[in-house]
Formats: sequence, C-alpha cells, structure tokens
Amino acid sequence: MGKMSSSKVNRYLALKHIAEVANSTSSLKRIFNSIASSTAKAVHANGCRILSLSSQKEYLLTVGTHGLSDLYLKKGPLNAHKSLPDILDGKVVFIADATKDEKVQHPQIAQAQGISSIFGVPILKKGEASGEIRVYTREPHHFSEADRGFLLSVAAICAVLLERAELYQFLEKDYKASKLRMKSAQISPLPTASLRPTSFAHPSEKEFAKLLDFYRIEWLYEPRSFPLKWENGGVTAMFTPDFYLPELDLYVELTTLKQSLITEKYHKFRRLKELYPEINIKLLNKSDYLQLLAKYGYGPLGEAKIEGVNRVLYSHTQIQRKVRVLARRISHDYAGKQLVLVGILKGVICFMADLMQHLSLPVTLDFMAISYYGGDGQTVKITKDFDSNMTGQHVVMVEDIVDTGMTLNYVLNHLSSQNPASLHVCALLDKRARRLIDVPLDYVGFEIPDEFVVGYGLDYKGQYRNLPFIGILHPELIKEDESH
Ligand code: 5GP
Repeated sequence: MGKMSSSKVNRYLALKHIAEVANSTSSLKRIFNSIASSTAKAVHANGCRILSLSSQKEYLLTVGTHGLSDLYLKKGPLNAHKSLPDILDGKVVFIADATKDEKVQHPQIAQAQGISSIFGVPILKKGEASGEIRVYTREPHHFSEADRGFLLSVAAICAVLLERAELYQFLEKDYKASKLRMKSAQISPLPTASLRPTSFAHPSEKEFAKLLDFYRIEWLYEPRSFPLKWENGGVTAMFTPDFYLPELDLYVELTTLKQSLITEKYHKFRRLKELYPEINIKLLNKSDYLQLLAKYGYGPLGEAKIEGVNRVLYSHTQIQRKVRVLARRISHDYAGKQLVLVGILKGVICFMADLMQHLSLPVTLDFMAISYYGGDGQTVKITKDFDSNMTGQHVVMVEDIVDTGMTLNYVLNHLSSQNPASLHVCALLDKRARRLIDVPLDYVGFEIPDEFVVGYGLDYKGQYRNLPFIGILHPELIKEDESH
C-alpha cells in the first residue's frame, strides 16, 4: 500500500475512534460529544454540533457538541425550517462567510461569536434527513471533497446511533400506549410544544430557565400534556409539566405554591407517575427551588443574615476516617496505574489535599475553575481550564459536594471530550435527594441530608471554608419563606 498523507491518516484514525466510541457502552450523550470532538479535529474545525431532527421535523435538538462554548451559543432547539433548510432536503450546505450569507438566520450572532465558515451535512435515514452534523471555523475555511466524504461517513454512523436512540424511545412509547389503551378507550391529541415561550406563568419559571441557560442545558417550556383522567371518551384531567430537558430526557415541575395548595398538585403528580411509569420527572417544591437559588447567594433566602454554624454534621475525625477509606479503595482499583486527580476550585481543596496524601499510587494534580450562576443571563464559563490535556489519562474527578449534578455534568462532558483512558468520580458529599441530573458517582464519602453545609473547603458567600469540620448553617437559611 502506498503512503497515506497525514490528513488522510488523521481522518482514518478519527473514523476508527468514532466507530469504537459508537460501539461502546457509554451514554449516548457522551458518545455524541466524543464523536463531535473527533470530527472537529479531523477536519480542522473549531467546533462541531450533532443535531437530531424532531419526529415532526419542526426543530433540531443538539445531541452532541464540541468547542462551541465560546464560539457559538444558541439557546434551546433550532427551528428546522429556518436553520439551514436545505439540510431537510438531504443536501450538503457550505457557508463560506456566515456573517454575510443570506442562508444564515442571524448573521450578527455569527459575527459576534466569531464564526466564519459553516459546513453542514445531513444525517440520512432511508434517504430522509433525521439530523445534521455541523462544523464551524473561526477563520474562513474551504472544506475539501475528502472532508465532505469523511463527514458523510460520520453521519452514517450517527444515523445508526440516532436510530438506536429512537428505537429505545419507540419501545417506551409503545409500552406506554398499550398501557393507556387499557386505561382508556380514547386519547385526545396532545397539544404540541411551542419552542420558546413569550411569557412564563410564574417568575420562578423564568428564573429556573435562566439557571438552565447558565448551565447550557436545553429546555422546552410546557412541551407536552399528559392525560390523567377520561370520561365518556374525552380527557377530563391533564398534567402539563413546566419544563422538558431533552438532552436529559427529564421533565421538571416547579411548584412554588403555598403548602396548603400543593396537595392537589401532588395528587396529580402521583397519578402521572402511575400512568406513565417510564416518564422521568422531578418535582421541585418551593423550598427546593429557593435553596437552589440561595446556593448562589441569590433570591430571598440568599439575602438572609447568617448567624453562623448551627450544628456539626461531621467532625474532623469522622472526615479523616472516611477520606482514608476512599483513598484505600481508589489505590486498590487503580493499582499499577498512574492517576490524574482533577478538581474544581475552590471548594475541593481540603478534600483533595487529604485524599491524595493517602493514595499509594503515582498521582498528578490538575484544577479548573468555573463561573457560578448570578442570574444575569450569563452562561457557565471555564475561568481557568486544566493545565494539561486528559487524552489517554486515567482521570479521577474529585468533588467536594454533588447537589443538583449540573456542575459535575458540565465538567464531565468537558473532560470526556478530551478522550481520557478512564474517567471516574469521587465525591465526599452526595446530596442525593436534590439530584436533577443523574451523574455517575463511583466513590462517595457521605450521603448527606438536604441541608446547606459549610466547612472543610465549602463556603457560603466565600466564608467558612477554613472550618475543620462540616457543619450546617443556621436554620434561618433553609427556612421556607411562605410570604413569597
Ligand atoms: P450542583 O451543580 O451539583 O447543584 O452543585 C454543585 C456545587 O454547588 C458544589 O460544587 C458547591 O459549590 C455548591 N453546593 C451545593 N450544595 C452545597 C452546600 O450544601 N454547601 C456549599 N457550601 N456549597 C454547596
């Protein structure tokens, strides 16, 4: 065989990697993110986005991204008919200059985000578009025939993956439909979702949407109504959850009503879970929601005066004992390997420092820092990235506390896009009751109650990190404020 050019070799290696990833047991989200990362690199693009077309072909949902954090940010799903409509007809689209091209919906956004060229290829299923792969460059770039061929091959792999995802959903739907048929003679057509609401029913929903935007979690508002009761062949009661987070396949219902008014809602919620057991839905009540905001020093509880620590949850000795147990398990599991411990500044410093001292392995350290929610329309940003690249490394992400899981989810996506050899999570504290996003935790110190804790590195508005124990703040902070 003759010598291959280096870009040919790169594309070949990328395709090999993509085929392996596609065939791995990772979650589909991780698989698509990893494919996006390899694809962008192989065609020398700065970013890549893999999109799936909704069944009604009305909007495009992002299922995988790479490198778009600063380059291109679009909230929510894209309108399929407005966003590169040629793709719907199965055509390849090349835009040499996104700031000038009339095919681009918002050239000024492309300009602000520093996008020059966009290259899109359809993901085809039986000749019909079921999604799209888009790559973006900062500088004007011409994609070659070989790039086009490469992207179409990746698209073919993505088509199989999307079909796998659909098949899974189809089986679920089929199961649900047969259950419903047993319950009812007739199901009325369900209202369809509006892509972005013009207004929210309640300010807390708007605030929650801003929080999701901050973590770049895509959402739909009131996308679907679930019939709950039928009489004379018609639906007499429905439940419409406030949000659907497509990437996580999760519905979220916010209830900020007074406790006395909630009973009816709980009743409906329970009925929904009975009728649709495969639906993934979380109910956030008022105090959950206010605590979520207070965590960022925000909202009514965030203003509360804190009198100091109310009670010690874990003493210094208890923490040290637990840290040694965790370190022993990690040393055992990684025997013979070189480990990279990574953490997010600053909360993790005490735990990281203690944990590493008890590891009987060769270990290196790396830290990142990210911005926190401030309710100001910003999105999460990496303010300090890791110093080294994690490709091919055995990485253990060390976390002080996992609450909703949004931070960890974001960082794990960032880490897995660098294709580490392995990636596991060690969290000292797991506030499981408040989990919104299911993140895999491999090593857990303590599962803690739904309380706001400080000390041993953890802060409230910058204070209390130096306490040698973990304590619960004065109850003022967590008391539900009925007047709001
Ligand atoms: P998540 O994204 O999982 O909701 O939140 C993770 C981050 O929120 C943690 O890294 C930590 O900074 C903060 N956090 C969550 N719960 C607590 C808590 O009880 N005490 C303190 N001090 N920070 C918390």
